[in-house]
Amino acid sequence: MTQLLNGNKLAIDIRKEISKEIEKNIRNKKKRLPHLGIILLGTNSSSLTYVNSKIQECKNIGIESSLIHLPNDSSERELLKEIQKMNNNPLIDGFIVQLPLQKHINSDKIIMSINPKKDVDGFHPENFGKMSLDMNAFFPATALGILTILERSKIEISGKHTVVIGRSRIVGRPISILMSRKNYLGNSTVTLTHSQTPNIDCYTKQADIIITAVGRPGFLTGKMIKEGAIVIDVGITIVKDGKKSFLKGDVDFNSVYGKASYLTPVPGGVGPMTRIMLVKNTLMAALNR
Ligand code: NAP
Repeated sequence: MTQLLNGNKLAIDIRKEISKEIEKNIRNKKKRLPHLGIILLGTNSSSLTYVNSKIQECKNIGIESSLIHLPNDSSERELLKEIQKMNNNPLIDGFIVQLPLQKHINSDKIIMSINPKKDVDGFHPENFGKMSLDMNAFFPATALGILTILERSKIEISGKHTVVIGRSRIVGRPISILMSRKNYLGNSTVTLTHSQTPNIDCYTKQADIIITAVGRPGFLTGKMIKEGAIVIDVGITIVKDGKKSFLKGDVDFNSVYGKASYLTPVPGGVGPMTRIMLVKNTLMAALNR
């Protein structure tokens, strides 16, 4: 029997908690509402969808957001200028530059130019380094969302073998670090796999927890997991069927459902938790103000 882990429902609970916190520590103390800045370059349809959903999440909770939308062919220098404005703007508590960036932009340079105190995506090396050293920092929203799903679903991580598929800076690498931290919500034994890992099923078949962030629909099949494994599907791919489009995860739902003990659905699993964690990080930045 597989239990689906409902990210939408968990996100509603966390939204209420954040609203309460804003009421208690911001509105009641007559402080300025938290303000998230977003810089978007170009018109990539997935990036536009992600940005709109982040703005909507801010509206749902009642915090401020500002979008700086630059044309596709903006130069690195123009983007850096907007980042400096956000860094220096006292009314912006935290901001993100929507990734991925165009090929003519050096992403490392962009991430390094964000003030770590406003880096609510948690991608700046200062925050990433602190995360790796078991220190407090802004943690990348998707990884934090996955940990929170596991925590709130009362799924023990400590002592479990976790196999992460995908090593991107956005998902795979941060979640592998967080799962193995010597900390509450950590202490897992982590195997990080990627495109150069041969016979990936040798690893996944041994895993108590599998976190897949590849971006290939149906990548993880029932044959690749052991009975009762906990499966977190991070993948989101837009698949077209005639005129209709659907969101598909990395998991082959039909073969994994019934064999896994827990499974996050796509949509409605990790996605809503990612958005709410970005707002949580923005609130944290505002409270640190
Ligand atoms: P990415 O940067 O493209 O990374 C994909 C990773 O998968 C890479 O590490 C790659 O290995 C690995 N990979 C590719 N083919 C593989 C294979 N055959 N076997 C094993 N590993 C393989 O993607 P990302 O940004 O991490 O995103 C991954 C997926 O998660 C996408 O579908 C994205 O849309 C989704 N996503 C969802 C959320 C959410 O909130 N739910 C948030 C962010 C991303 P190499 O490093 O060797 O290339």
